Amino acid sequence: MKLDKVLKKDKQSVSFEIFPPKRDTELENIDGTLEILCSLKPDYISITFGAGGSMANSKTLEIAKKIKNTYGIEPVVHLTCLNYTKSEIDGVLGELSEAGIENVLALRGDKNPNITQKYEFMYASDLVSYIKSKSDMYVCGACYPECHPEAKDKVEDMLNLRKKVDSGADALISQLFFDNDVFCKFVENTKMAGIDVPIHAGIMPVTNKAQIERMVTLCGATLPEKFKRILDRYADNKNALFDAGMVYAIDQIVDLLARGVDGIHIYTMNNTTVAKKICDGIRNII
Ligand code: FAD
Repeated sequence: MKLDKVLKKDKQSVSFEIFPPKRDTELENIDGTLEILCSLKPDYISITFGAGGSMANSKTLEIAKKIKNTYGIEPVVHLTCLNYTKSEIDGVLGELSEAGIENVLALRGDKNPNITQKYEFMYASDLVSYIKSKSDMYVCGACYPECHPEAKDKVEDMLNLRKKVDSGADALISQLFFDNDVFCKFVENTKMAGIDVPIHAGIMPVTNKAQIERMVTLCGATLPEKFKRILDRYADNKNALFDAGMVYAIDQIVDLLARGVDGIHIYTMNNTTVAKKICDGIRNII
């Protein structure tokens, strides 16, 4: 089912992101993870796709099929384009259609000097319009409340985001952020830029300090003072940091829901305890 049938105008959505296990030996564990995550009844689950690999051999498609066919939850398959030709993308669209997958997250992918760029798609918006011209998929795109790191400035990034939506993106999923004021200002700016599609807020619950520092270095998210105090105070106490991180994420989500966001997309990092705690925390709110 396409997400426009799943997402209701008068209901805020809750969805998860997961990644396929890196090693084949970990593949068995993913079944247990999927069972628990799907029992929490998210509106959809998105599955990341490593740039440079082949979809045919990737676990992304296998996991998406399982989520759909075994648990009846709609999967959203991430698809990057920088390192693929149009005919390779045609092949992937064929596989997705054969598997009954109707929702994708169209991405450019990060530039990687070790993988040859194919130069047939320069930006995610090229992929969005290509998919729309070739299929009836529901296509999501990524957005960056604190600006994409390669963009000259926020204005240029916003104009590029408008191009992505004009190319046919049906909804946007945001990069992680820790400051709700930053996200809400960004949403306000999208409205001024004439962007009128659902925007789902990407929330990354903190479970350990190293993970968060790595993420912040990669995406440049601002750390509010309240968040830094938690990291500083509980960094060396694993259990305390976990509890404080959960409370911070739930507080962040409740505030976003109260401010009327379209949806919350939880970067679960395949951690079922985290996903369960968050869903328990907002059970009577959503
Ligand atoms: P784009 O929208 O193409 O933007 C990239 C840059 O180009 C931006 O600076 C933008 O301002 C600029 N730009 C866009 N259009 C134009 C234009 N027409 N002219 C000039 N400049 C332009 N990566 C993976 O490899 N696998 C994943 O599964 C994955 N999942 C992700 C999920 C989410 C929710 C997010 C937010 C990111 C994800 N990423 C993933 C990372 C993503 O691939 C990188 O952030 C990448 O650098 C940009 O991808 P994009 O689709 O946002 O690119």
